[in-house]
Amino acid sequence: MARLRLPSSPEVRAPVVARALHAIAGSDPGFDGETLVRELPIRFSDCSRALANGDADRLRNWLTPDLFEQWQRGQAFQGSATADPSDMWVEDARVVWAEHGPAEDRLVVGIDCVSQGEDSLSAPTQYWVLVRAAGSKTQPGPAGRCPDCGAPSNDSVSFCPYCSAALGSLRGWRLQEADDEVDWYEGPPLF
Ligand SMILES: [Zn+2]
Repeated sequence: MARLRLPSSPEVRAPVVARALHAIAGSDPGFDGETLVRELPIRFSDCSRALANGDADRLRNWLTPDLFEQWQRGQAFQGSATADPSDMWVEDARVVWAEHGPAEDRLVVGIDCVSQGEDSLSAPTQYWVLVRAAGSKTQPGPAGRCPDCGAPSNDSVSFCPYCSAALGSLRGWRLQEADDEVDWYEGPPLF
């Protein structure tokens, strides 16, 4: 899988990210980057649990069709699938890259997780590439209800416990790629 390549300097990335988030919000008034980032830790732990449990229904609603197929063939998430999700928690999450392109919106988020080993703590960062088709709108649905099946839901879950629909502001976004490394490069953004 092609490594994610991004400018290494936060000062170089910040204006590009700000401009792209602004453009995304311009075409989708319901989009709020901060809410999305706030919901990432729950999505992350629900995703880890879905991987550990082989929960195809949830993963089908969250991964891009390509990534879902790779996962089914055992070619994605080998490392994450063996980690015990109950021993892992998210310390911080942030947007490290954003693009508002003609075909799709694309966000790269960095998720710092801490995992409890036998007698040590390790703190790996995971990078998630989230995509959605151009023109997509944020439609979280009615508060406290799953927009697909109408079952009660709440803010502490990011998938409907009844029908596995993706909930919240990440609904509509798909995970295209999950990496534990980024190929950081010096200098201005290359498009
Ligand atoms: Zn539902």
